[in-house]
Amino acid sequence: MPLFAEIRDEILAQGPMPLARYMGLCLGHPVHGYYRTRDPLGAAGDFVTAPEISQMFGELVGIWIAATWAAMGAPADLALVELGPGRGTLMGDALRALGRAAPGFTPALHLVETSPPLRAAQAARLGAFAPTWHDSVATLPEAPSLVIANEFFDALPVRQFQRTGRGWCERLVGLSPDGTRLAFGLAAEPDPQITAPAPVGVLMSVPGAALDTIRTLARRCVARGGAVLAIDYGHVRPGFGDTLQALAGHLFVDPLAAPGEADLTTHVDFAALARAAAAEGALVHGPVDQREFLFALGLRERAERLSARANPAQAEAIAAAVARLTDPARRGMGSLFKVMATGDRALTRLAGLPPPGSGDGSAGPSPSPARPSP
Ligand code: SAH
Repeated sequence: MPLFAEIRDEILAQGPMPLARYMGLCLGHPVHGYYRTRDPLGAAGDFVTAPEISQMFGELVGIWIAATWAAMGAPADLALVELGPGRGTLMGDALRALGRAAPGFTPALHLVETSPPLRAAQAARLGAFAPTWHDSVATLPEAPSLVIANEFFDALPVRQFQRTGRGWCERLVGLSPDGTRLAFGLAAEPDPQITAPAPVGVLMSVPGAALDTIRTLARRCVARGGAVLAIDYGHVRPGFGDTLQALAGHLFVDPLAAPGEADLTTHVDFAALARAAAAEGALVHGPVDQREFLFALGLRERAERLSARANPAQAEAIAAAVARLTDPARRGMGSLFKVMATGDRALTRLAGLPPPGSGDGSAGPSPSPARPSP
């Protein structure tokens, strides 16, 4: 395990590292990082995402894009952006639906992606649209923008703090006493900046990278027009609790056991993202449950149209996909996944989402200890 050796050496030289540093190395190490070395999606990989379940997911996002572009006044210089496009499946399906819904729509396509194998998959799928790739949102064009992010924010590193008798101490990754394994520990001194009241033992995540990203995007949407659509598993009300999870081969594994070999994620704190966007002057729509969003955009009607020209086995698969995407069970995709948009104040109504200020959308317990099924 080359990444374990590198992390061990860094800990021996500099002491235990913050969880965010550990997550950043596991996911993004230039040579051994999880996303640098593989395509993690699909049956042969570690997890399945909504666009890989059904083409209808990307098609409905395409309809959302067409409606929002029209609401923006159909700017000719639109940048259509996707963060973490995976295999390019969502955007491929969205662009096909867009070709039908808005024939005059020829946006510049920008993909934010750090994984070489996934960039190759995106090039194969989306090459005809001549995308421009970016390592981060920092280099995206200063233009009216529509930004799509499905299961992107959950993959960004977070810091964690645990409430102790002394205050909030940062969660660190160090070594077991014999030096052969990684182990969680806590910083000796509390962080004086965090003062939230909570019982001793409680854990809190601070999604620094996600907040920086949403701030940059919200600022651009407010200045130049546009919106960001974020779809992810997470919680609507701010909350405490440990949602760090590691997935390998569709199973939950110990996040410290095999650095760089498992997908590490945390639930997205939508309340924190909403606050950060609002502080940049952006309007916040939702979040709502994925199920409500997809039904509002016409999932049922789309499934009926597809089934009408399908054979019985295909029709069954379409019905199964609808059920999986909208499963309202506590651990189901339909309610664990949330959809939130934020953007330009001129966009007072967005397709599929309740208007800003109409409450917190769907409620649901918070923080959710549930985990999405792999
Ligand atoms: N949106 C896709 C893939 C989700 S997996 C889908 O729904 O199927 C997360 C995606 O984000 C992958 O494409 C991964 O390579 C990318 N990613 C993860 N961390 C990233 C980072 N820090 N910067 C850019 N892309 C990142």
